[in-house]
Amino acid sequence: MTNSTIKKLLILTSGGDAPGMNAALRAAVRTAIYHGIEVYGSEAGYQGLIDQTVFPISSKYVANCLQRGGTILKSGRCKAFMEKTVRDECRQYLQALEIDAMVVLGGDGSFRGAWLLENEGGPKTMGIPCTIDNDILGTEYTIGFDTACNTALQAIDKIRDTAFSHNRHFLVEVMGRSAGFLAVEVGIAGGAEFVLIPEEPLSTEELVQRIRNRVRQKLASIIVVAEAEKAGRSVELAEQIKALSGITYRVCILGHTQRGGSPTVKDRKIASLMGYDAIQALLAGESQKMVSLQNEELVTVPFPDPSLGARAFTGEELLRINRIICGV
Ligand code: ADP
Repeated sequence: MTNSTIKKLLILTSGGDAPGMNAALRAAVRTAIYHGIEVYGSEAGYQGLIDQTVFPISSKYVANCLQRGGTILKSGRCKAFMEKTVRDECRQYLQALEIDAMVVLGGDGSFRGAWLLENEGGPKTMGIPCTIDNDILGTEYTIGFDTACNTALQAIDKIRDTAFSHNRHFLVEVMGRSAGFLAVEVGIAGGAEFVLIPEEPLSTEELVQRIRNRVRQKLASIIVVAEAEKAGRSVELAEQIKALSGITYRVCILGHTQRGGSPTVKDRKIASLMGYDAIQALLAGESQKMVSLQNEELVTVPFPDPSLGARAFTGEELLRINRIICGV
């Protein structure tokens, strides 16, 4: 494809980091350079625009980053960008640099910022969905999810070893503020008899009832708990279970370990192809869109409507099947 419309491209990573961001960054940078586009980077998300520290990025800049977790461009949460006056200054700065397109690696919030910037007269924007929660509306996959699942699963397997040896019960808390995709995935793969997710709130009384009504009583077991609205909530939950049933559950909160680590094959491959597609879509004249995985194919879709919130897990049947498999 000939590049007739884009001469200078800005790329940034914003919001929560996710393993595979570097692979997407590398692919987008190299694809843009292949098409004769000059590439610039902004460090720490939109902060680099506010600080006016945008810098040129070469093909070498993204060398040897494919296998690294996190983001070599650094990410950040930059609340000031929500102010129109601040975005106006950023837009003028980008205009002075003659930046005509921008690729944003991030989540809903980052895409909202990009959408506003373009609407207000800024560069053409394209998003690449990145979050370990897999909860962005409009795509069936977000970069980082598979790696986070594997990290959490490794931890659950280790907890299972010691739980079995000592006849202990565990609550393992995984990330997932508004969606339970990660919890369900690792709950099934890790043999957790119950999986607590924000989409299906369960009272402690009901949970205790289910524990008591198990078909096969167990000396050791694991419940996976998505952090939901309160990270660390499993500590309180364990106390409530103890008070209601007398059963002791030990707590293991996996926390930020799930956000780091070398990306899996799946994350590296999808991220690389999404990075490539983001540039191709911009060159085809598309903007205010994100690359999305739908039915095993990469397509582009409009940025998610922020009023619709995050994507929710809707596979309750999977949880029912898991309870049968786990003999509860
Ligand atoms: P994510 O992109 O992972 O959803 P955040 O919601 O924290 O993460 O958003 C990341 C950044 O995107 C924010 O720190 C801010 O710079 C920008 N952003 C988020 N929401 C908006 C908004 N409504 N308007 C402008 N910029 C926004």
